Amino acid sequence: MKALVFYDVRDIRYEENWPEPPQPSAGFVKIKIDWCGICGSDIEDYLYGGVIPVHEPHPQSGCAAPIVIGHEFSGTVYETGKGVRNVVAGDKVAVECVVGCGKCYWCKLRDFGRCEQYLSIGQHCDGGFAEYVNVPAENCIIYSGVGADEIAVAEPLAVCVRALKKGRIKIGDSVAVVGAGPIGLCSIAMAKVAGASRVICIARGGHRAEVAAQMGADLVLNSREEGWEEQYWQETGGLGSDLVVDTGGNIPAMQLAYRLTKRGERCVFTSVANGDIPINALSIILDEKEILGTVAHSYEREFAWAMKYICDGRVDVKPMITSHLPLKDALTQGIHRLIEDRNQIKVLVTPNEKLLEEFRNE
Ligand SMILES: [Zn+2]
Ligand SMILES: [Zn+2]
Repeated sequence: MKALVFYDVRDIRYEENWPEPPQPSAGFVKIKIDWCGICGSDIEDYLYGGVIPVHEPHPQSGCAAPIVIGHEFSGTVYETGKGVRNVVAGDKVAVECVVGCGKCYWCKLRDFGRCEQYLSIGQHCDGGFAEYVNVPAENCIIYSGVGADEIAVAEPLAVCVRALKKGRIKIGDSVAVVGAGPIGLCSIAMAKVAGASRVICIARGGHRAEVAAQMGADLVLNSREEGWEEQYWQETGGLGSDLVVDTGGNIPAMQLAYRLTKRGERCVFTSVANGDIPINALSIILDEKEILGTVAHSYEREFAWAMKYICDGRVDVKPMITSHLPLKDALTQGIHRLIEDRNQIKVLVTPNEKLLEEFRNE
């Protein structure tokens, strides 16, 4: 089958004759992929490595590169293994990528995102940039009424559902979102769903800033323009925001998010940045600010809720989708283009070229 395969840093290959997954074993289903999104972390892994196991196999899956990547995907149930009851062949589903080991302290609490052997389908075992993939049946969530491409954005939205939940968002909160990539944009939309009175987005201008407004930001400040921070303090009465969500992907953005937080209030870090953050200890104490971390999601909580918000129209992810591509162009037109062109936001890829017809005039 066709597949996009990660071999090593700077070595991702499009393969035409990759082995198709076998008949699904008990509790598993075989999914025919409709759409799979390119995530910022796919690009990070392509450029620098870190998440996808190359030399040491992953403790839960036993897999190491070459691995079929892609963890943000929708598809159709093609075949079910023994004992599967929640889905049948033909069901349209999104696939939650987080899989717990089922045995550790966290899995017993059904908090799979904290599993000691945390596994993400498409990062630690074969994923969605292919024609077929086998996944645990319980990770499949049935949907209807929206496009399969929109449902492929449920994963990043689920990240934001958890981030805002961790940030204890409440009705009336003023919210600031640092960054306007997919996680920033989904955070804006979720903040509005959760009842934020006002959402300010700090972006670097361009198309992403326009989409930030479409996703519900009341004010978009351009961090490349002189004086934007003065305007931020003016707009927030010199106080800052009740909840600040960092999505900038780097340490300076996290420091900025912390600075923009109101005294006594909450700042959530979603960036996957590996390094120390210099923050003055006295500022944490005297300003009584809270810093919260967040990662992952669970199929029965954040992921299922994210799908509900997309399916019932509370969140419209369409403005974020900037390209629909065939799988064969995922590296050249997808990953490479996302690295070079900041006007690209969510690039979706399909192995089924018939699905592209709808988007031919893009
Ligand atoms: Zn992702
Ligand atoms: Zn576990």
